[in-house]
Amino acid sequence: MPIATMGLVLRQVRVGEADQILTLLTPDLGVISASAKGSLRLKNKLFSACGLFCYSEFTLTSGRSHYFVDSAQVRRVFHGLSQSIEGMGLAAYMAEIAAALSPAPPEAEAQLRLLLNCLYLLSEQKRTPGQLKSIYELRAMTLAGYMPNLLACEDCGKYEGGEFYLDPQEGTLLCADCAEKARHVPNLDTGALYALRHSCLSEDKQLFNFKLSPPSQRLLNKASEQYLLAHLEQCPKSLDFLRTVLS
Ligand SMILES: [Zn+2]
Repeated sequence: MPIATMGLVLRQVRVGEADQILTLLTPDLGVISASAKGSLRLKNKLFSACGLFCYSEFTLTSGRSHYFVDSAQVRRVFHGLSQSIEGMGLAAYMAEIAAALSPAPPEAEAQLRLLLNCLYLLSEQKRTPGQLKSIYELRAMTLAGYMPNLLACEDCGKYEGGEFYLDPQEGTLLCADCAEKARHVPNLDTGALYALRHSCLSEDKQLFNFKLSPPSQRLLNKASEQYLLAHLEQCPKSLDFLRTVLS
């Protein structure tokens, strides 16, 4: 029985002359591998829908270890991504995280929506790569069930005011005083703390609607990346490259 599904191409691995194994993020099947025969040939009917970061409608048949792509229609191409090296670097990084988290339904649909929104805003340059990186890291971890405890200082209950410390391993907050007692150096200013809470807790439609000064954004980026790395089994391979192109 053929299966029809939407899917975002997270990864392509070339096999032989013109075949590929695709890693797809789908709403109903989660992350799957699918063989796309001949899809690297320009004149192949699968060519345009199987490109990296294409969002396409696939018809699949199920094999023993993976799926086979029977047909595919492209629905959305994020053309702007390939116009900047930061865009390609960040898209590759986010796709690698999505594949590593490998969400199952129903989480897969929310992770897919998050990634599509980030790719769109990145492609259209409606948000900076730095802002999208921290939002994606924090929101993807939240959807995966790893939301830090953002309510208040873990020790004294202080909600806001002054600097705070996000413990990347524990996922807890400490206010500046309690951080000093625990011999930690605060890593968030007021703006970064607000954006941290917003990135994890806001409604979907408000997620990308906040402004942060460049210094606060830099603090948040450092903290959110540390938090992500502390909770992923492996450091994403694409991170080294991304670090060299993101200022
Ligand atoms: Zn405190």
